[in-house]
Amino acid sequence: MPAAPTPPPKKLNPLALPPYTAVFFALIALVILGAAFASFLPYSQIGWPLIVLPLTLLPLRDFLHGPDREKSSQHFRLPTPAEAPLQQAVNELSQQAGIHPPQVLINEDGSSLYAFGTFRRHFISVGANMAEILAEELQDKDLQTQKTARALLAHEIAHFANGDMQRAALARSMLKMTLLTALVSIWAAIGFVSVLVQIGPEITSPGFWDAAAATTGIPGLSLAWMPETMRAQNPHLFDLLANPAKAGDYWRFAIFYLANIFIPFLMAVPILYLFFWRKLMRVREYYADLRAASWLRDSQYVIQAMTLHRALTDVRPQPKSQGPLLPQRLLAFSWPASAGMLAYHPSPEDRKKALRSPLHLFGSPWRLAFWTGVAVLLLEIILRSSLTLIYVAQPAPYLPLLTATAVFGVWLLPRILAGESFRSLLKTGFQMALLFMLVKLSINFLDALFLGLAAGTGRLGALGHLVDAYLRSMLGGAGAESGPIFGGEFGWAQIVDWQIFRPIAYYLFFGIPLLTGVLAALIKLMQRALTWYRVERKMITVFWSVLLVLMGVQILLAYPLANILFFPMIYEWTWETTLRLALGLLLALIGALWFRQKHGQHAHRCPKCGEFIPDDFKLGQTCPHCHYPLHSWLIATYL
Ligand SMILES: [Zn+2]
Ligand SMILES: [Zn+2]
Repeated sequence: MPAAPTPPPKKLNPLALPPYTAVFFALIALVILGAAFASFLPYSQIGWPLIVLPLTLLPLRDFLHGPDREKSSQHFRLPTPAEAPLQQAVNELSQQAGIHPPQVLINEDGSSLYAFGTFRRHFISVGANMAEILAEELQDKDLQTQKTARALLAHEIAHFANGDMQRAALARSMLKMTLLTALVSIWAAIGFVSVLVQIGPEITSPGFWDAAAATTGIPGLSLAWMPETMRAQNPHLFDLLANPAKAGDYWRFAIFYLANIFIPFLMAVPILYLFFWRKLMRVREYYADLRAASWLRDSQYVIQAMTLHRALTDVRPQPKSQGPLLPQRLLAFSWPASAGMLAYHPSPEDRKKALRSPLHLFGSPWRLAFWTGVAVLLLEIILRSSLTLIYVAQPAPYLPLLTATAVFGVWLLPRILAGESFRSLLKTGFQMALLFMLVKLSINFLDALFLGLAAGTGRLGALGHLVDAYLRSMLGGAGAESGPIFGGEFGWAQIVDWQIFRPIAYYLFFGIPLLTGVLAALIKLMQRALTWYRVERKMITVFWSVLLVLMGVQILLAYPLANILFFPMIYEWTWETTLRLALGLLLALIGALWFRQKHGQHAHRCPKCGEFIPDDFKLGQTCPHCHYPLHSWLIATYL
């Protein structure tokens, strides 16, 4: 008798877990909004409305107007009766998925299939050359052909159901508006400076204000005090403005100041766009495939749909694009966006691989650790500028550590649920922490390198002048004539101590052990919680609760102690420190008691028969007594 074929191993269902695209959205938002909201900090040198409002309201407006822009740049029409089955199939699939059905629009000069929209307005664009063929295939007598055509539409609908369409479009609007805000601000600021240079000698003379007061016609009004008030505000700047011969100095100061604020933004946007946003775009394709497969209950239709899509786009040579010129497109971020199944997409091989083993979509841990490091580094570089001068003196190191805790936690969760061993997970967690810290510290290593080179070549003096000019422009002074800050108030010993020695020591000897320890606790606790079979889907809530408590304990307990230990010149022990530590201990205690109580209540119990289940959880496991499938919500529902 031939042996019964062994069933294929069960696949994890990433759709039941926190969406991984949200991680890349969050990292983009962290850099942009983190920089914007830093302008609220007390030592920020820029007024917050100038930065917070443009970087929050403009992206939202751009995102909400997206569909209108798309409609005016493309030639859309409604489906003809022959193409009507497209909308019908979309309606059926959306109903099955329980979402509001997107509207099908036929793109007269497009040959692709893509989704666009906002939170509530959903559209699917179908290229005119493929619409009729696709409509015919949807009605084909052969079930295989019919389902393949449906899979193609299901993939597009899934982009809305997953929320990835919205995340990708909002992130893109955020990057676009940050770039435009930075460019417009530089342009406006240079205009403002040139006006100041032109009228400087006038407005700094008392005669000007007397004459101005006289023109108002108000008897007895005198404005002669104005120049003195201006001088009192910033004597050096006043001197530069009053003296036309010093206009060049003033220009140099202004350019230095503006470059410091805006160049980090101009540098961060392309990196975020090329690496973070495109990664989000690729990951969302895996999710759309997975959801389409689970709707059709079989991944083979989704795989065939990839081939069908390629065939459909080749039906007719694609018409030459009559769109705007490349520089305009670059500025407006309107190069072919959110395209069909192939552009900005992972390769079909990768997509098939992710359908077979969904853990593939989470990518390698090293890349994630590297890019998380890059994100916090970009934020730090932006914050080193005039936005928050305090950052020069205050390392505020908890933000990178908290970011890494959350991001790595979300990455590790599917592996924990898939049953990977503690040892192997911990090893990965440690390596991620190490790589992340090295990327984060690269700026401090660079500081050390510069300093070493300057010292070695005898140019420490020149570097000192540069540091001084930097500090002066950040503090709103100008030139180098009103006494050095650097060399006066502090010198090389402080720079080496604050920017090189202490941050490196902090991250290597405190950051890496702390991050690894927190990840170890998260892995261990989640592995234990995984035997709470009764909580089923609420396991995700358990995960967030455990993660939040661990982060809270980190904030209240670990950071204050480390700050006092590593940066005693900034932090000292006050009654607030004692209070925070007490709250941290209390939170840890409450968290531990809660976990113990839940563990006693739920651990190793079958949700159906209530009997004891001895082993650790494995994906696809059933109750040994009643054969009830354990954590069946974690298993992909397609073949
Ligand atoms: Zn897609
Ligand atoms: Zn049972």
